[in-house]
Amino acid sequence: MDDSEAQFALTSYSQRLWDELELPAEADRLRCGTLWLAADEEELAATRAKAGFYRARGVEANVLDAANLREAEPNLRHGLAGALLIPSDSVVYPPVVAKWLLDQGIARGAAVRLHTRVARLEGRRVRFADGLSIEAPIVINALGAWANSLTPGLPIRRRKGHLVITDRYPGFCRHQVIELGYLKNAHGSDEDSVSFNFQPRGSGQMLLGSSRQFDPVGIDGVVRELDSGVDDAMASRMIRRALEYMPGIGALKGIRTWTGFRAATPDSLPLIGEHPAIEGLWLASGHEGLGITTSLGTAELLADMIAGKQTKIPAEAYSPARNFDHVHDVVSRNEK
Ligand SMILES: Cc1cc2nc3c(=O)[nH]c(=O)nc-3n(C[C@H](O)[C@H](O)[C@H](O)COP(=O)(O)OP(=O)(O)OC[C@H]3O[C@@H](n4cnc5c(N)ncnc54)[C@H](O)[C@@H]3O)c2cc1C
Repeated sequence: MDDSEAQFALTSYSQRLWDELELPAEADRLRCGTLWLAADEEELAATRAKAGFYRARGVEANVLDAANLREAEPNLRHGLAGALLIPSDSVVYPPVVAKWLLDQGIARGAAVRLHTRVARLEGRRVRFADGLSIEAPIVINALGAWANSLTPGLPIRRRKGHLVITDRYPGFCRHQVIELGYLKNAHGSDEDSVSFNFQPRGSGQMLLGSSRQFDPVGIDGVVRELDSGVDDAMASRMIRRALEYMPGIGALKGIRTWTGFRAATPDSLPLIGEHPAIEGLWLASGHEGLGITTSLGTAELLADMIAGKQTKIPAEAYSPARNFDHVHDVVSRNEK
């Protein structure tokens, strides 16, 4: 992803780490590539600029015209102007990968406590809801969209999203396909939005996304938390958007719809590093819609920082101590 140099650096570093992993077959890693869809000539021009950005940084990127795009994905609607193909992208099935990584930690001596909430973080002391309390030289808050609940004051807002998984339709769509407008909707605005994002799974199922809704802030300045239930109106809006790009989706059977919360930061970059004011507390949060992709890079950066080693990529841009004064520029650039 190329919203900023720092975002590109972390995603590309993480992709290299993913490529080095020998994942189990059940992780369903599928090297499907991504097609960024250009609806019109203006978006096609944007794909050319994106292709230049990627190529200059050693990533293969090919611009497809309308005919080549239809050949690549026959179920897309007629009349799209073209697409940008990034062949090196891939998808995984995250629950299996998370379990596999956790098991490796356990095999190396990690102790895992499941189904027990942390009630409080007090510096280096972690207090669990069941009364257990543990003190450690280093504590990492990796609570994603809930990071603020234990470490108040972090620049993180919750951003709800919907997803639909379909029954098995092998070959219906061979690439991850995303409308180019996704970039604008993903980071550019506070409004509720939907954009077309469709991913094939190794199982033959298709994952359809996505929507974006910040927890609303009332005129009194109080944040009102959205519940985690499926919002039918938002899910319908998301599906209607998908039908505009791929009408055949209407004939597929969706078997489950669910939601999740992303942890959004003002500059769309995660918080990775030591808390600026609380000694011993480290942060690994704020990855918004890229936390699966960038999980491995985040872990490596954090491990190097904690061990006092030089990080493999510059890490200042992710520092929790950074200032966000430039944020306005980032937002307006993405709105273009
Ligand atoms: C609709 C949607 C689509 C997405 N698509 C993609 C994608 O295509 N690619 C990608 O890379 N990323 C994607 N993401 C983003 C990705 O899911 C997140 O960035 C990632 O899960 C963040 O990981 P995390 O470990 O930081 O936080 P989480 O996965 O949110 O994990 C935080 C955990 O902390 C737990 N927790 C909270 N409070 C407490 C407490 N007090 N005590 C104990 N535990 C607690 C929570 O239950 C949760 O399990 C998507 C997200 C959404 C919502």
